[in-house]
Amino acid sequence: MEEADMMEFKATIGGKPAPVGADFAVLNPATGKEVGRAPNMGGAELDAAVSVAKAAFASWSAQDDAALQAACAAVTAKIEEHAGELAEIITLEQGKPLNGLGSRWEVGGAVAWAGYTTGLSLPARVLQDNEQGRVELTRKPLGVVGSITPWNFPVMIAVWHILPALRTGNTVVVKPSPHTPLSTLRLVEIMNEVLPPGVVNVVTGDDRAFNLGAAMSAHPDISKIVFTGSCATGQRVMRSAADTMKRLTLELGGNDAGIVLPDADPAAIAEGLFWGAFINNGQTCAAMKRLYVHDTIHDAVCEALVAYARNIKVGDGMEEASILGPIQNRMQFDKVSRLVADAKERGKVLLGGESGEGLFFPPTIIAGLRNGDPLVDEEQFGPALPIIRYSDVEEAIRLANDSPNGLGGSVWSSDIAAAKKVAGRLACGSVWINKHGAIQPNAPFGGVKASGIGVEFAEEGLAEYTDIQVVFA
Ligand code: NAD
Repeated sequence: MEEADMMEFKATIGGKPAPVGADFAVLNPATGKEVGRAPNMGGAELDAAVSVAKAAFASWSAQDDAALQAACAAVTAKIEEHAGELAEIITLEQGKPLNGLGSRWEVGGAVAWAGYTTGLSLPARVLQDNEQGRVELTRKPLGVVGSITPWNFPVMIAVWHILPALRTGNTVVVKPSPHTPLSTLRLVEIMNEVLPPGVVNVVTGDDRAFNLGAAMSAHPDISKIVFTGSCATGQRVMRSAADTMKRLTLELGGNDAGIVLPDADPAAIAEGLFWGAFINNGQTCAAMKRLYVHDTIHDAVCEALVAYARNIKVGDGMEEASILGPIQNRMQFDKVSRLVADAKERGKVLLGGESGEGLFFPPTIIAGLRNGDPLVDEEQFGPALPIIRYSDVEEAIRLANDSPNGLGGSVWSSDIAAAKKVAGRLACGSVWINKHGAIQPNAPFGGVKASGIGVEFAEEGLAEYTDIQVVFA
């Protein structure tokens, strides 16, 4: 990208571009070069955003359901209209390719989710209607929702937060990760073309001098935080939300296990295993992060997986031939490098293992590892998959569940009924059979144990943006 093409988006607050004070650089992970600048905002700008969102809440929440639905449909159409532009911004700041399961796919997902969420509703329910009286349950919006997002799917996750908030009559202040603020700044600008001022606002900052997320979690005029990010930060959000009794949806880290049963067909599952683990370079909450393979087919599964992975082209995401891009940021690259260096001492590298230029790291598959090894126990959030050999299915279930996390899991088998039995025993929020990580807008998604609180998607996810009121007549 030429310097003239540097992306500089303003933050939209109250329907207008906020005055720009300090700003910070956003780097393209494929080149290490600056691709744009984002406003470096602090407490005063956050207060301004929350205050306009609070003011906008009165009229936004007073609309009837059909009007809210029509507004969400208009927002969905706007995102779709700008899909190509948003995909390019994502690739330039996030690193994932335009192609394949990359940024065009991410924006396509955002449009699909926005459309589906628009169509959902939470009608009042009559709990009782007899001579003793009529009891009705209604759902009321909360007020200002604070959305805090990570850097792996910046646009899709922002849409997962913003659309259900709007659909239920809330207003929003969204804060993207300092690594990927540009696509969210543009997304909010686009949404504001069809929304009244103050309904959706954005703040960005570099998390150095001032931590906007922490301030949002404690802000007295924010009623709910929807947070997607790491377990450690999610715990901080929960602590600082206590004083103001905020509603919380916390979608946190995972260390998803896949279990390959002895009757699986290695050739048939290889592609699914690969994408289950390496989608978005493994930088995906519900990616498969550890793979348990039965002794009898261990070598055949490893061979089939490596044969598939070998042909994946890694490169700059702006090139159409690239199927995987770089790791998004230096901190994550260093973490993956450390875990892989350690795993090389303990196991056998079947593919990859050596970092490339800059932040590039090839798909890496390491066998011969066990629970207790750091690459198995820690969330690598990168392109490195540990394979653990097992001989007893009971043992595999125990090892899979031996984790503080519980986001997703998968079972791979030719016998769906047998796989379902194993699935039911995994301690996690979603389990897939012969695939991994395939989330969809009509199925509630969330983690158990340290992977979070609450769910997103479907009516259950929508309900988290409301309080219940029961009227007894
Ligand atoms: P992170 O926790 O470092 O950052 C997430 C967001 O929190 C960023 O916007 C950051 O600026 C903000 N933040 C930083 N300090 C804060 C504080 N004290 N209070 C409030 N907010 C603060 O996470 P990340 O590295 O951006 O994302 C990767 C993690 O997210 C992985 O663990 C991944 O598994 C998880 N994730 C989970 C899901 C899910 O749905 N469960 C989805 C995607 C990613």
